[in-house]
Amino acid sequence: MSDSFDPRTHNARPDELAGRVIAVTGASSGIGRAVALACARFGATVILVGRNARKLEAVHTEIETAGGPEPTIAVLDLEKAIASDYDQLAAAVLERFGRLDGLLHNAGILGTLSPIEHYDVPTWCRVMHVNVTAAFALTQVLLPALKRSPDASVLFTSSSVGRRGRAYWGAYAVSKFATEGFMQVFAAELENITSIRVNSLNPGRARTMMRRQAYPAEDLNSLPMPETLTGPYIALLGPASRDVTGRTFDAQS
Ligand code: NAP
Repeated sequence: MSDSFDPRTHNARPDELAGRVIAVTGASSGIGRAVALACARFGATVILVGRNARKLEAVHTEIETAGGPEPTIAVLDLEKAIASDYDQLAAAVLERFGRLDGLLHNAGILGTLSPIEHYDVPTWCRVMHVNVTAAFALTQVLLPALKRSPDASVLFTSSSVGRRGRAYWGAYAVSKFATEGFMQVFAAELENITSIRVNSLNPGRARTMMRRQAYPAEDLNSLPMPETLTGPYIALLGPASRDVTGRTFDAQS
């Protein structure tokens, strides 16, 4: 089953994620917001992780208004968070839920598009920190909660530029290669000792702030809305992908 699994063709049952607790980083906007709303629609209790409390509260309200399970907000600025912030979040998850069934690393920043020769060093460090190091730190503190789930899934939002290098995409592209590497290392470490699966998903082009920043002159109407890309996320975060690990996927053909 593992080799033929394609998250794009999975049709989720209405209660597919019922009873699951799933944390989504970058849940305040774009793809993360859309996936958080979809997770709740399929029955999950969602932990909305982000840096902007006001935006997270708006997503919280949307979920409640739609009749989804009451979500939780976890304000965490991945650029500024220190060890105690991560520890507090992990302790709160264990105390409130006793386990974690899904963790979607989705928050990210683009940095600047620039040749390596001129790439600004502080921007490089910021992009690597938010996109890679913070995801590592969050994964590490949440691992005890993931281990308490009978069927946990860790999923990384990747990018096509993290699978084949592209000129001028600088730290962003390198951070996505690192994301893919982290996914593979972590999946290999866990494969035979836990039931936790670890995979990556490239959403493809989507109508979000980040895409706007990368392609300011692009016709927005030519881009799929994030809401149309959530199906593969549900498949990879939910029971459909049980036993699938260490794999890279694309949300669009
Ligand atoms: P987006 O709308 O800009 O969303 C990025 C998310 O990351 C926002 O929720 C943002 O929070 C959050 N974030 C940024 N810095 C943060 C920090 N320091 N601490 C906590 N959260 C932070 O862009 P998006 O397109 O949805 O991006 C989501 C993921 O998809 C990213 O990993 C991106 O690399 C990937 N991706 C996107 C595309 C595309 O075409 N859009 C293509 C391939 C991959 P705020 O709301 O507070 O800004």
